[in-house]
Amino acid sequence: MTEWDTLRVPHDLMDELEKFLESSVAKKTGFTSKTQATTTAMREFLQKYSKRFEHVNTYEDKVRILDNNIGKRGDIVTVQFKGKIAFCDYCESNNCIHVKYCWEIPQVAEVLKKRGLKLLD
Ligand SMILES: [Zn+2]
Repeated sequence: MTEWDTLRVPHDLMDELEKFLESSVAKKTGFTSKTQATTTAMREFLQKYSKRFEHVNTYEDKVRILDNNIGKRGDIVTVQFKGKIAFCDYCESNNCIHVKYCWEIPQVAEVLKKRGLKLLD
């Protein structure tokens, strides 16, 4: 069961939200309550400002990255370096956002360079 907290918000902002909930846009998008709209807004805010990627660890031939945008609470993605090409198991790609993120981690970029890998455009 979900537990709830109470928040105080400015009256004028709440008035705007109530007006919005009566609009056709709200009906079209399925927003029916202040709680539902506010919860959605907070989730989107947190997703926008939370760090998407975290470097979990590096092995001889792979890097593990936590991607907070996968699933409800994020998931681990593995990028392998086989031969001269980095390959993301999750995207099944050698040019996805996870492969690009590997190059943004200084100690990983160094390993990739040493192994002769290059970042694809
Ligand atoms: Zn990927």
